[in-house]
Amino acid sequence: MIVSCEKCNLQFLIKKNDIPKNGRIVKCGICNSEWLQKPYNKEVIPVAKKHYFANLFLLLLLILFFIGLMVTFKKEMLLIYPPLNMFYDNLDQFNYHFLTKLNLFLKEIIQSISRLL
Ligand SMILES: [Zn+2]
Repeated sequence: MIVSCEKCNLQFLIKKNDIPKNGRIVKCGICNSEWLQKPYNKEVIPVAKKHYFANLFLLLLLILFFIGLMVTFKKEMLLIYPPLNMFYDNLDQFNYHFLTKLNLFLKEIIQSISRLL
C-alpha cells in the first residue's frame, strides 16, 4: 500500500502486512515527521457506502432499460426465442400502460440518437 507523509506529502510504498489493524506509528525518512498510520481497509468502506444509493439507482435504471428494450424489440425477441412469450404475458399483466410509455420514450431516444449519428 502507498502511505503519504502528513507533513511533506511524500509517498512511500510499504507492505500491507506491516500495518496492524489498530495502526502503527510510522516515521517519514525525509522530514522525520511521525504519525499513526491506520490500515486502508477502514477508510475504504465508508466510500463504498456513500455510493450505495447511486449504485442502487443505476441498477434500477439498468433493469428499466432492459425491460424497455425487451418491449421495444418484442417482435425480434420472439423471433429469436419464442418461449419468451411467457415473459411478455407476465409483463402485460404487470403494467402495460407504464411500459407502453417507456417503450415510446425509448423509441424517441433511439430515434434522436440515430438522427445525431
Ligand atoms: Zn515527510
